[in-house]
Amino acid sequence: MYNIDPLKEKKEIVKRYRALLRAWNSNKGVQENNLVRKAFIMASQAHFTMRRRTGEPYIYHPLEVARIVAGEIGLGETAIISALLHDVVEDNPDYSIEMIRQNFGDKVAYIVDGLTKIKDGYERLESTAQVENIKKMLLTLSDDVRVILIKLADRLHNMRTLDSMPASKQQNIAAETLYLYSPLAHRLGLYVIKSELEDLALKYNEPEIYRTISMKLQETEQERMRFIQKFIFPVKKAMALQGINFEIDTRAKSVYSIYKKMQVKEIPFEEVYDLFAVRIIIESPPEQEKLDCWRIYTLVTDNYNPKQNRLRDWISTPKANGYESLHTTVMSPTGQWVEVQIRTRRMHEIAERGYAAHWKYKQQIDKDKAQESGLDDWLAEVRKILKSPDSNTLHFLDDIKLTLFSDEVFVWTPKGHLKSLPSGSSVLDFAYLVHTELGNHCIGVKVNRNLVPLNQVLRSGDQVEIIASKKSFPKEEWLDYAFTPRARFSIKEALKEQRKVQAGEGRLKLIEIFRNLDVKSSKSNVIRFSEHMGLTSPADLFYKVYLDQIHDNQVADFFQTENKEFQSQDAKDKVDPVQGANKQSAKTRAKHGPLIDLDDFSFSIALCCHPLPGDEIIAFTPDGVSRIVHRTNCSEAIELMTRFANRVIHTRWSNKPMNTFLGGLKISGFDRKNMISDIIRVISDDMHFNVRSFHIDTSGELYEAYISFFVRDTLDITNTIERIKQIEGVSAASRMLRFIKT
Ligand code: MN
Repeated sequence: MYNIDPLKEKKEIVKRYRALLRAWNSNKGVQENNLVRKAFIMASQAHFTMRRRTGEPYIYHPLEVARIVAGEIGLGETAIISALLHDVVEDNPDYSIEMIRQNFGDKVAYIVDGLTKIKDGYERLESTAQVENIKKMLLTLSDDVRVILIKLADRLHNMRTLDSMPASKQQNIAAETLYLYSPLAHRLGLYVIKSELEDLALKYNEPEIYRTISMKLQETEQERMRFIQKFIFPVKKAMALQGINFEIDTRAKSVYSIYKKMQVKEIPFEEVYDLFAVRIIIESPPEQEKLDCWRIYTLVTDNYNPKQNRLRDWISTPKANGYESLHTTVMSPTGQWVEVQIRTRRMHEIAERGYAAHWKYKQQIDKDKAQESGLDDWLAEVRKILKSPDSNTLHFLDDIKLTLFSDEVFVWTPKGHLKSLPSGSSVLDFAYLVHTELGNHCIGVKVNRNLVPLNQVLRSGDQVEIIASKKSFPKEEWLDYAFTPRARFSIKEALKEQRKVQAGEGRLKLIEIFRNLDVKSSKSNVIRFSEHMGLTSPADLFYKVYLDQIHDNQVADFFQTENKEFQSQDAKDKVDPVQGANKQSAKTRAKHGPLIDLDDFSFSIALCCHPLPGDEIIAFTPDGVSRIVHRTNCSEAIELMTRFANRVIHTRWSNKPMNTFLGGLKISGFDRKNMISDIIRVISDDMHFNVRSFHIDTSGELYEAYISFFVRDTLDITNTIERIKQIEGVSAASRMLRFIKT
């Protein structure tokens, strides 16, 4: 129980304000400043009657957030003032952004405004609003990173004091922290804050696991320290002999990262061998950093044997979040592998504090050599995604999540340049990374001098060469091959462009058909005919005409038999029949639900169940704009229908989808020579389907094969199954119901 004691509280407030000034001071060597004081006073007054859930005065919170901003992130005056004021406008109606602008200027007003608009997870927003909220947040990120940095400090303090929240809210906040805030902290290079956020989130989501791991870490600490002392001794001696100024840092891994490792590798705590890494931090002038780090590397490997392929040079190629360091894993005398990280003081500060430290040094170094860092590249990428016309769809969130969460792979160009991509990227992504035109005209790719398929996933160290031809253009399937937002966006653009040209040709063709039938080529005739064909727009109609999927007799049937009165007159003159026709089609639509026409890019196919034309489907709309099509019997769809009934659209396929879709078969039987090639031959040579992936498991004489390929509809699948079943050695073939994401 918290006891209110105004005098004690007043003292505490002053104490915390001083702590803030000290944090700022040690950081920049600045004295208290009138504006910061003014902000502190304004915040104190605005929150005067308010208390936190703990019972403590509310002003403790903004003071703590400001202290984190100054001391743990390393930001300056503007950010400190904004942090002090971050809850003022939201919590007290007597204060406005205008007031803040008049007192502290545009920049502070902008940041506080941004912070006020970002909502927290426990506010239980509707799913759409949640997406919008994240988007808003990222928009501010591209404008002024400080908004996010202060938001991170805000979240960190709320996590540190999460005890006072009711349990249901604790879980929401912890989940959101893991989903959004720790990846953001990671991307901005705030390693220390990221780790603390993750540990705190784990503590509230999995209290038992958290307790167990931290206990075991404590129990083994003494033993670990003894081991490290012994291990590092010869290296320390060698460095001292050479007069190197160094510091050894041996923090254990975070509870969360140990937990992750146990999960991924399915091992108990005792088998996580890299509970810690040895860090050697050296003092070195900027121009000598690289050389000095490699000197230390030599000293380490003079004493211990390095593990093959475990050398990581993040100095020559910093990570996208700005991280620089030299890592090697060596064998200790007791037979344990130990990771050694070698870095300079500057690199260390960037590794721990990220963004602000990065900028601080960047300004110092850039005078003589302007070098684009990974962090700049990443911010540029975020800006690009935000600017793309697609950015209001669900894909936007996927794209952002991809850029936030994924690790990187590093691959070489033929000329020996190193490029980094999110892990999971394919060779096609690489082509688009080098140049959009190279991607658009890619016909083949060589990895390490061997020709590979376009969907081949890249691995670090690959050397990639793109073969391009002016005559080649992107294909629909490429959207399945590409992984990065950049490539997917470019492919969609190129396909749209192609489609436009082809639709143009189709339009001329349709005019010709109309003329032959003596039908007037009016807009209303085109619209009525496309509605009749079950198409959503004239552009779709033109495209189908281009593909020869619409024939003269269909046009003739419609205009001559059923709608004779439109033959040579503009529909405008005949108001009633037009309205009648429209009403009719609207009614049909209501009954069957809207049409899925996969020409439309706002639809996408769910990767879990890969529905095909012919299947019963629903569309899920997470944001009211984009739609994801699932089979109605898909377990994910069932969950969505239960949880977000209002976001599910019951729907059906349009008459003649022109795309191909990914279908899959599960085939099993007794293995024999050429089994695989016979199956593939039937699918690709006899049936003419494009095979995308093939996977086979054998045990003894039995095999189980999973094959995916592109088909038009369920009928294609049924026919293929019939053909496959005739192959000798196939005892069962059925449609694959759940797809493993590759
Ligand atoms: Mn706050």
